[in-house]
Amino acid sequence: MLNKTPGVKKVKSITLKVGLLSLVDSDALKFALKIAAKSTPVEGAHINIILVKPRFSCRECGYEWTISQDSLNKLSEKFDLTPTLHLYPDIIVRFLKCPSCGSNDVEIIEGRGVILESIELDV
Ligand SMILES: [Zn+2]
Repeated sequence: MLNKTPGVKKVKSITLKVGLLSLVDSDALKFALKIAAKSTPVEGAHINIILVKPRFSCRECGYEWTISQDSLNKLSEKFDLTPTLHLYPDIIVRFLKCPSCGSNDVEIIEGRGVILESIELDV
């Protein structure tokens, strides 16, 4: 598709936001993207990955909080969630309680999925 964009020779870099809740291995993702990019204008592009910590909100009291990668790993191991979280990150809310009021009516604000943040082109 880029070959058909006038003036665009090559993709210089791609920046992706990777939500930690998705348990995506950044190195594996970069490796897969480099293979997929072969013989395309994306070949050789620098791939930047920004890891996004999970952020939650309590529907009861409005409190917002994050958890560290370490806490996420511990929670995931405790409830044996690793394969499930990878495919269905939203399930994490069933295992969380609001640190402020104790409600289990919790939603994810960010920290899941892989989002294309930006593309830098060589024109
Ligand atoms: Zn709350």
